[in-house]
Formats: sequence, structure tokens, C-alpha cells
Amino acid sequence: MIVILEPNIDKNGSAYRTLLDHLSALPNIQIRVHEEIGTQQTLTELYLVGDTLAIATDDIASFPGVERVVRVSREYRVIGRHKDDTRSTHFEYNGVTFSQDHFHVFAGLCAVDTPEHVERMMKALRENGQVCTRMGAYKPRTSPYAFQGHGKNCLPYVFELAGKYGIKVIAMEITHESHLSEIHEALEKTGRPTGVMVQIGTRNTQNFELLKIVGRQQTYPILLKRGFGITLEESLNAAEYLASEGNRKIVFCLRGMKTNLGDPHRNFVDFAHVPVVKRLTRLPVCVDPSHSVGTREVGPDGILELAHAAAQGVVAGANMVLVDFHPAPAKALVDGAQALRLDELPRFLDDMHQVRDFYLKRVKDYSD
Ligand code: PEP
Ligand code: MN
Repeated sequence: MIVILEPNIDKNGSAYRTLLDHLSALPNIQIRVHEEIGTQQTLTELYLVGDTLAIATDDIASFPGVERVVRVSREYRVIGRHKDDTRSTHFEYNGVTFSQDHFHVFAGLCAVDTPEHVERMMKALRENGQVCTRMGAYKPRTSPYAFQGHGKNCLPYVFELAGKYGIKVIAMEITHESHLSEIHEALEKTGRPTGVMVQIGTRNTQNFELLKIVGRQQTYPILLKRGFGITLEESLNAAEYLASEGNRKIVFCLRGMKTNLGDPHRNFVDFAHVPVVKRLTRLPVCVDPSHSVGTREVGPDGILELAHAAAQGVVAGANMVLVDFHPAPAKALVDGAQALRLDELPRFLDDMHQVRDFYLKRVKDYSD
């Protein structure tokens, strides 16, 4: 059961204390306080766990300071959709809004290699009206001998160049809590020219200690990849870990699943789950066609298999596309085989927006 309190409720005031005293006296009930600190207001919610069936919602709703009481009908208490649940379903970060109704493409480098490539990428994005990108500084690699990313050394020039080209949000994977502080420090030192959406990769979807640390901060939104070898439910519970620690600015990313032979694509595309995630949770859903498909193969119809997969995600209602581009894929230090070239960016964006428009038309047609 979720008790949603009036915005900016005074935690030392009598309404809050009377309510807490009452709830604390209920048998077999634990209370977890969840606070969401926004720019305009602080929202406080009380999560009641345990024998909640015995509690009458009307009783609790009649207490001063209570705005609404929601009975949680399924799992995913914080990120889930519940009956009569009117909690906000969008978030804004650095001027960009994310929700199940918005759409953004995050095209960029899988791994940062040189300042020149970063600049060419950012310039192409600006020329194509983009304000979001992906830039990998910390790369989790299968082989310990493979390039591990430039780490904190590349952050200053990545952030400065992002500022120079009007990029507002960079999706950037972290694999350790120290990376969060390194990003924070580099942003501070460079005068916050851009914003970062912290990415948790598929190899860390169930790194619960990392999830708790990233979930405890509310400065940066989070892009959580589904685990490539676990169930969707387990992956959504990972998102719930983030949210239950306080950060609800989460985008959930589908990126394909491991199959026994990994053929013919790097991963088995799971974008049919876009509407499922949107039904089960309130999270915006991203698709990553690059790490799913993993090749630049072109079908006999002349369309890149990667673009086919991306379109499947978008026509299913995806809110974000995370996609690898590189100014010189042959020189990329990570995942060059799946990177699209900069001259392919205008067509890719146009393709995705056409498919998005078609999705919106379908939504309208089905509602008529
Ligand atoms: C990535 O996006 O660069 C990445 C490594 O993705 P994943 O965690 O999905 O493999
Ligand atoms: Mn990659």
C-alpha cells in the first residue's frame, strides 16, 4: 500500500507525526519512507509492507496530510502501474523530458577513443538537431586484454565538446561507484556544460550493491539495461531496486538476450517486450538495436538489419533508441562492426521518426 502525502509536507509537523504514530502502531506492518526531491517540490510517500489487507484505505486517506492511498496490486511497488495510481509518470533532466509518451534517439560512440572522433560525432548530432548522445568512458569487456575505455581521463573533453555542440544528455555506463564521483567531479570542474544519464549495463543488471548506490543519488537519471541472461521479471526488479532507494528517473532498456548459439545476431532481439514493460511499469522504454543485432548486415530489401530491429522497437512504442555510430567504424576500439557511419545518421533519424509517427497513428486508430 502506498500512502501519498501532500507535497512539501513538514516532517516535523503534527499531521505527519500523528499519521506516522498511527501507522507504526499497526500490527505486522513495516513503513518505508520514500522522498522525491524535485526542483519545485518534495513529494513524500509511505510504503506500507506486510499485512496491508487488514488496513482500510479510507481510514488512512482521511488523515490530514494524506493526498491519496493506493493499494498495490502487483509487484514493482515503486515503478509499477497500480489501480488509481496518479503519480507522475515523467521526469525532466537538463531540459529534456522522458516518459512513456516521449521519444528520443541517443546516437553516439560505443566507446570514446579520440577527442577528434568525439567532436565529429557531436558536430554531426548538432547538424541533425540532436541534443542527446551516448559516450562510453568505462567499458566492461569480455577479455581483460581488450581496451577498457579511457575512464575519467576523457571526461573533461567529452563534457566540454558536448557543451560546445549543445548536447544536453549523455548516456554513459558506469561499472563502479567511483565512476559516479568521477563523472560528478568532471562535470563540476568543466562547469556542468552537459548532463549525464548514468547507464547500468547488462553485465551489472543484478549488481545489487551498485544498484543501491546509483539509486540513492537523485542528481543523475539512470538507464538500466535488461540482463541478457535473466528473466524480464528479474530485470524489472533490478529497476525496482533503483527506485526503492529513491531514484525514479529511470529508463529501462531492452538490448536483446543471449541465445545458445548467438546466431545470426549478437543477441536475440526482444523488442516485442516494449509494450509489456510499458504495461507493467511506468518507465520509459529504450531499445538498443546495436548491441542486439551487432552487425552491419543489410537485408535483400536494402535495409540494415539493425535499422529493421530499431524500427520494430519504435513501432512497438519505444521511447528511446540507443544506437552506436562512429566517424570511422574501422578504427573504433570497441564494437566497430555494429557502428553506423555519420553519413548514415540523417537517414537513420528520419527512418526512426517516420516509424514513430506511424506508431502514433496506430495508437490513434486503435483508440477511435
Ligand atoms: C553499451 O551500451 O555500450 C553496452 C556495453 O551495452 P550492454 O550492457 O547492453 O552490453
Ligand atoms: Mn558496445
